[in-house]
Amino acid sequence: MVKVSDFDNFGVEDMSQEEYRQKQAEILKLCQCTKCPTYVPGDEQTAYCFPLVGTSNVIKHEKDCICETCPVYKEYELTHTFYCTRCSQVCQSYKSELGGGHE
Ligand code: SF4
Ligand code: SF4
Repeated sequence: MVKVSDFDNFGVEDMSQEEYRQKQAEILKLCQCTKCPTYVPGDEQTAYCFPLVGTSNVIKHEKDCICETCPVYKEYELTHTFYCTRCSQVCQSYKSELGGGHE
């Protein structure tokens, strides 16, 4: 059985609310999204790879994704792209695992 915690790259499962907030602020500082050709200003915050941020309310068209150049991507061993339109790391991993038909 696939568990969401299996894809918890950021380790948020065991964090307090305060720890989560601090981690999110740290990720936001490093986030490269605003330099990306796909980015459209208007969301309260970026760092779409982080759990619970959600997809963008304003980005509708995927052009290119520069997540792979982001320090967060390397540090947390992320594996997906286009978090702004496709959902967070944990969300995309969970979906692809379910789509792959694994137990
Ligand atoms: S990996 Fe992408 S979405 Fe996540 S912080 Fe970096 S640029 Fe932003
Ligand atoms: S998630 Fe990727 S495609 Fe979306 S704005 Fe950030 S770098 Fe660009």
